[in-house]
Amino acid sequence: MKSPSYYITTLGCPKNQADSREMERSLSQEGYIRTDSADQADVHLINSCAFIEDARVETIRTVLDAGKVKKKHKKQKLVLVGCFTERYADTVRAELPEIDFSFGTGIYHKAGELIRNAFGLSVGLEPVSPFFEMQAQGKPYAPVKISDGCDRGCSFCAIPLFRGKFRDIPADEIIAECERLAAQGVREVFLVSQDSNSYGGKPEAYLDLVERIHEVQGLHWIRMLYMYPDGKTERILEGMRTRSMPKVVPYLESPVQHASESVLRAMRRIGSSERFADLFALARDVMPGCEVRTSILLGFPGETDADVEKVEQFIATAKPEKLALFSYSPEEGTPGAEMSAQIAPEIIADRIRRVQSVHRGVQSEHLRSLVGTTFTCMVDESSAEEVVLRRPQDAPEADGVVYAEPKSRLLHSGDLVNVEITGFTEYDLTGVIT
Ligand code: SF4
Repeated sequence: MKSPSYYITTLGCPKNQADSREMERSLSQEGYIRTDSADQADVHLINSCAFIEDARVETIRTVLDAGKVKKKHKKQKLVLVGCFTERYADTVRAELPEIDFSFGTGIYHKAGELIRNAFGLSVGLEPVSPFFEMQAQGKPYAPVKISDGCDRGCSFCAIPLFRGKFRDIPADEIIAECERLAAQGVREVFLVSQDSNSYGGKPEAYLDLVERIHEVQGLHWIRMLYMYPDGKTERILEGMRTRSMPKVVPYLESPVQHASESVLRAMRRIGSSERFADLFALARDVMPGCEVRTSILLGFPGETDADVEKVEQFIATAKPEKLALFSYSPEEGTPGAEMSAQIAPEIIADRIRRVQSVHRGVQSEHLRSLVGTTFTCMVDESSAEEVVLRRPQDAPEADGVVYAEPKSRLLHSGDLVNVEITGFTEYDLTGVIT
């Protein structure tokens, strides 16, 4: 099943742009795919402004225009969020029938969850987002696809049904793509696939590829994503000890999907909570300062409360710095859809909340530990009001950013600068460029 798509129209000040980014991150984590224009989107969000009369008029005009687009795209949902909604909730309800759903300020990080609950849209599992569908679009980072398809046959996943069998992209093509991107100003590439560690059939082939990407002039950072948590990823990490790979950022994205062995076996996946914790520890040992992103799928048929407790314990002890939580939904054509003991959506939603709350503790402890430290960060955007940067430990548009005051010297997107971290919000950091 293809995941629903979204488009965000942002009005108003730079703060709104940051809030829209937070919504994008939340929607991506829920599996929604960004489109390039409102008329292609299943969900069109308008991040509104109500600062002065002109801004209010612009918001209403934008809603009316969006209503016309919606008429042509019968199934599209129109969502109004932000300052206008916060200030004029009653007006929105009474006078803007174009709007299907609205919410105010301060909960942008929950956009994915709110929209899922409002419209009951289910997403494709282990979606290709947040990274796969991303384009360079003048940004200093871009995804580079290294393979497509998957042979693993996880019992909840429909991806092999529509992406097909695993196949590599030849290394020469990947290098040519990296060279093209670097010539356009891209400074970070992240290697995407459904199953990265199967590249070339053996871990050494993946390492050889990453070594070749190191030679591309102009790239600063290389990011490894979609590393299935098995022995091949362990061998890739071990192999990095003996190779010189300074451009590989200290980051591991490895979707464990669950921490209870009985659920993992029912999902037709390998591993255990102990082995996953060892894998995270190995990554942190091989790449000092490494941060881990993982994903967990809750509500697989037969999952019990005790299984969810194992997930909670795993999160509390293995401490992945970043976590994407997905609700199980039966996908046509997969073995999971045929299983008895399907779990009610409200129970799954409750389990998601439980695990999320454990992870919030892990995350805030981690963010607090960063205050006072200095990182070499990449400039993602720079304006007269604000500089948006990223630490190597944060993947573009999936993880947090660092907000800093502009410096007197001109900064360009893709520049590397040192930033001392001075504070944090729920996901993002604030810092001072040194
Ligand atoms: S590894 Fe499993 S979950 Fe991931 S794409 Fe392949 S079949 Fe789907």
